[in-house]
Amino acid sequence: MATPGGVKPTDAPVTDLPGVGPGTAEKLERLGIATLGDLVLHLPYRYQDRTRSVPFDELEPGRECLATGEIMASNVHHGRRRSLLTRLNDDRGTLTIRLFHFSRRQEQSMRPGAWMRCFGDVRLGPNGLEMVHPEYRLYGEKPPPAAAELTPVYPATLGLTSARIRKWVEAALTRCNEALASHLPDTQFPDLMDAIRFLHAPSHEPRRIDAARERVVIDELTGHYLVMKRRQALLKRQTTIALPSGPKLGRQLLAELGFRLTRAQAKATAEVLEDLAQERPMMRLLQGDVGSGKTVVAAFAAIRAAERGGQTALMAPTEILAEQHFETLSGWLAPLGIEVGLLTGRQSVPERRTRLTAIREGRALVSVGTHALFQAGVEFRQLALAIIDEQHRFGVHQRMLLRDKGRLPHQLVMTATPIPRTLTMALYADMDVSTIDELPPGRLPVRTHGAAMSRRDEVIDRVRRWCESGRQGYWVCTTIEEDAENDLNAAEAVHRELAVALGRLRLGLVHGRLPQAEKHAVMARFKAGEIDVLVATTVIEVGVDVPNASVMVIDNAERLGLAQLHQLRGRVGRGSARATCILLYEAPLSAVARERLAVMRDTNDGFLIAEKDLELRGPGDILGTRQTGEQTFKLADLGIDRHLLPRAVALGNRLLAEDEATAQTIIDTWGRREAEYATV
Ligand code: ADP
Ligand code: MG
Repeated sequence: MATPGGVKPTDAPVTDLPGVGPGTAEKLERLGIATLGDLVLHLPYRYQDRTRSVPFDELEPGRECLATGEIMASNVHHGRRRSLLTRLNDDRGTLTIRLFHFSRRQEQSMRPGAWMRCFGDVRLGPNGLEMVHPEYRLYGEKPPPAAAELTPVYPATLGLTSARIRKWVEAALTRCNEALASHLPDTQFPDLMDAIRFLHAPSHEPRRIDAARERVVIDELTGHYLVMKRRQALLKRQTTIALPSGPKLGRQLLAELGFRLTRAQAKATAEVLEDLAQERPMMRLLQGDVGSGKTVVAAFAAIRAAERGGQTALMAPTEILAEQHFETLSGWLAPLGIEVGLLTGRQSVPERRTRLTAIREGRALVSVGTHALFQAGVEFRQLALAIIDEQHRFGVHQRMLLRDKGRLPHQLVMTATPIPRTLTMALYADMDVSTIDELPPGRLPVRTHGAAMSRRDEVIDRVRRWCESGRQGYWVCTTIEEDAENDLNAAEAVHRELAVALGRLRLGLVHGRLPQAEKHAVMARFKAGEIDVLVATTVIEVGVDVPNASVMVIDNAERLGLAQLHQLRGRVGRGSARATCILLYEAPLSAVARERLAVMRDTNDGFLIAEKDLELRGPGDILGTRQTGEQTFKLADLGIDRHLLPRAVALGNRLLAEDEATAQTIIDTWGRREAEYATV
């Protein structure tokens, strides 16, 4: 990515800025900021209005605002807690400023006659409206007019305040003034840089803020689309091992499966096999709801590769899932004479070494493992096919282009997040898509009920009766933060609670912090029917397949998003028995949470749920994903912005046809990270 002839200002490292040392750079890195360009594109997620001092008779409790007044009196008050109370007047009313921590100098500076301007939350105190520890500044006389622009608030990280980030952003903007110039006609902000500059310090004009945001989002979505299209063009020129139809071992599996493929499975399999026969590397997304039977499609692909002596790598997001895939595939492929190997962190060093040698020598035809293990220097003799069974969450999607001695293998990416068509068009423009849109016959939709926490005992009692009559169930614990410590506490507490309440039923506990070996052992016992009720954190959400489990309780279901609830619920209803899912929630529910639970009650259709999920995701979620670093986009949020996708696609196509230079500028602005993935 180095540009010949010197580094562009946007590519300069943040340490070029005065006051940014290695320590700060590391913290910025956590926000995804490494260069000045990243800083420029680190846009505020909300604004504070410091443009207008609110007259005291218009102040409202619970609102954040700027207030200006003359100091009337200031006294240390010895109540329950010592505090410095300063009374301000404007010509419309009074406001009290309360400081619990203050220095002698502060106390002396608050003298009557001086003026104070402060910014903070207004609340109702014992003597009327007050602000506690606002940001403030003192003046000898009536202060000058307030700031003309809104004050940006940036996504911050531990140890970096929004105010410091603001300062660096300003410096970066000065240095990168012209660097991101992309001009698009027909928009209120033809120049991207104008829109960005405006968003960092806008005037109080909501319409213009929206227009500027839209301008940047269109640029970003177009950039993403262009990167995908370019990759697609690149792939078309690549060649890899063609895998034409061979001894037809697949037919043998078909005969021995014990079930008939659904129409959708057969179609997806045919599409995959057709791709594999070509010299051009396959790049196919296989989407299908939980339980729709994607694994068997992967098996047919692996068989095809093996028939031709080509190796297959199947990557799963978790070890539990990798082990499960290993068992399933071994069961299907071993009878055909195709050995399946497993690579996990639980294996001993010699075991692993043997595996790696078999892979290097090309004897191991099918290998199953997790991402990390495949990245750590595994050498294939002839990798023909990479299958990636993905995390289901939006935004986690990191496409890996595995290269094998410079050559791309065929790739099949499986996802259980059904993706609405408008999205696949724009976001997966470089991939062909196969969709499994029906479930195997005989599946009964899971019956879903909501229950308020006040009915917890009743729910426990029902679970007890069901499981005493031979059913198995999951009790899923959720926590607010994705915090392993908390997760564990919540699950252990529930485990203790249920151990008492469920009497003679056998309980198990599985959570993310359990050593792999134990996790595996507990899952194996549950699968074997030796555990009746499995208390679990959301670690079980991905892929786990225990057909006899037909009861699920999700504790504090209101904390989870739709996609996650749907994934969890997909763990039950996999066998022939009618399954039940109870969503236990803490009342009162927010409007969005109520609607989420209603959607879950009303439908089992993953596509519908995915649509609703996008609709219901609010600004809070943008923040959430940003903070965990999982976002695909810097600014665009598909919940709010997906109506812009068709415009971005049209624009991208037009630029590719008519204006290569602008297309390149947009790719350079947004494509850096994506380009990095492309060379993994
Ligand atoms: P997912 O798409 O969620 O990965 P799996 O591949 O794990 O789904 O399949 C779910 C279950 O359905 C497995 O137990 C699998 O053996 C079974 N299955 C798959 N296809 C069929 C089918 N056509 N008829 C009956 N059962 C099937
Ligand atoms: Mg699966």
